[in-house]
Amino acid sequence: MFRRFLATAAKGSAGPTIEAADIVIIGGGPAGLSLASAVKASPVLQGLKCTLVEGGKLVESLEKFYESPPQFIDKRVVSITPASMDFFKQIGSWDYVKKDRTETYDNIHTYDGVSGAKMEFDSPELATMIENINIQSSLLQRVKQLNNENPDNPLTILDSTKVVDITEDPQNEWPILKLDNGNSIRTRLLVGCDGYNSPARKFAKIESRGWAYNRWGNVATCKYKDNEFRFPTGWQRFLPTGTLAFLPLPNNWCSLVWAVPPEISAIVGKLSDEQFTYMLNAAAKLTPDELTYLYEIADKEPENLIEEIKWRLGLFNKTLTTVEQKENFPLEIDYIVPNSRAKFPLKLSNADSYVEERVALVGDAAHTTNPLAGQGLNMGQADVKSLVETLENSCKRGLDIGTKIALEPYWAERAIPNHVMLGIVDKIHKIYSTDFAPIVWARSLGVNVLNSLPFVKDFIVGEISHKGK
Ligand SMILES: Cc1cc2nc3c(=O)[nH]c(=O)nc-3n(C[C@H](O)[C@H](O)[C@H](O)COP(=O)(O)OP(=O)(O)OC[C@H]3O[C@@H](n4cnc5c(N)ncnc54)[C@H](O)[C@@H]3O)c2cc1C
Repeated sequence: MFRRFLATAAKGSAGPTIEAADIVIIGGGPAGLSLASAVKASPVLQGLKCTLVEGGKLVESLEKFYESPPQFIDKRVVSITPASMDFFKQIGSWDYVKKDRTETYDNIHTYDGVSGAKMEFDSPELATMIENINIQSSLLQRVKQLNNENPDNPLTILDSTKVVDITEDPQNEWPILKLDNGNSIRTRLLVGCDGYNSPARKFAKIESRGWAYNRWGNVATCKYKDNEFRFPTGWQRFLPTGTLAFLPLPNNWCSLVWAVPPEISAIVGKLSDEQFTYMLNAAAKLTPDELTYLYEIADKEPENLIEEIKWRLGLFNKTLTTVEQKENFPLEIDYIVPNSRAKFPLKLSNADSYVEERVALVGDAAHTTNPLAGQGLNMGQADVKSLVETLENSCKRGLDIGTKIALEPYWAERAIPNHVMLGIVDKIHKIYSTDFAPIVWARSLGVNVLNSLPFVKDFIVGEISHKGK
């Protein structure tokens, strides 16, 4: 059946230099490589001719990581849910993950930077921290294995190859992708796994709506002071300027995500690694007013910053006299990995639809969210799973997989869960972005009530970790 599909495609082609495919995926990020692996691992879909096009130098960097992983954990790390991990197992890529570079944790400790109200979320294997590159490299290895098993119809990866234009074949309305190497591909189905600025979404004329959070997410790989053992725990402090999170990595390392407005990001971005480290320890413990003062020092007299923080933290630490009080805060950061600092603009976006005639959108091409709940990549994995099931059903029913009617079950399945998740994360961001007393009182009361209702917390944990889905 699939060969017949392609024969039809070739007959209608506009010229001999245009390749034809059943599925072209733009983007070799976590979503694109997951989709490629899932299609080729599917007994129903593996006969389709499938090409992945990626603008970056993908294969070389992922092979290098797989063959000789670097000493330090990369700065791009994500928290994946048990549901995402199960999906990687289902498509066969989890076997290729470098497990010694991942950390599974059972507990997230959140605390309000204004009122101090705290909430703990516990569940066995709540989430797992893993480098984006570890996910991508495992997926590439799985694709290579599947290609070896299916040498007549392997997945083609065109990396270091940018899609520069997408037009519509006038004969049958299939997308034709123009590549920067001069070649073109025409495809029955174009899947945009091409991130926030998705060229596929633009080609399909699908509107994406949302807003910027006016926050930068500052990331780094950090080492806790080795003076005390703690079970791997995620720490999250809600400050009016944004969320500060330390997420656990193996051997007492952790991954930082620190959301701050652009003006603060510019100030902390100029600090040395040592000054930045002190500022992190201050942000984990001191009051928002003290932090505002410290940002001023960091801007105007950075040479005095470390002494000022040492003095303030010294006073604060003296107030923590019992083990229980100390355990209400993360361990202090000792140092950060050189060159591990980076920053990303944070935004919410959601496409009006994830499907159009001959086009489907997946992952960040369809939606982006504030990383405070660690859901962006996880939502993308759920998209991939749903799209693959939709394509399988279409194939079994003999439908043309690129038609909008065949793709609509995917959109129907993913629209509401993604919309709900984007809304929840947005509300959390907004509720915590203020130090307005009545709101602080209300949110702290809410948190204290929630913290005393285990069944409600279990429900939230279930939703966030997608357990049971
Ligand atoms: C600070 C931060 C922390 C985060 N933490 C978490 C977390 O804990 N948990 C979680 O689930 N998510 C998290 N996320 C979100 C997560 O990183 C993203 O949702 C995920 O990486 C998106 O993957 P993707 O494959 O959809 O898109 P991308 O990774 O953006 O991949 C898109 C790919 O398309 C390629 N491309 C684009 N245009 C073209 C073109 N014209 N031609 C060829 N190729 C093209 C790009 O080169 C790129 O490789 C976080 C995000 C940030 C910023």
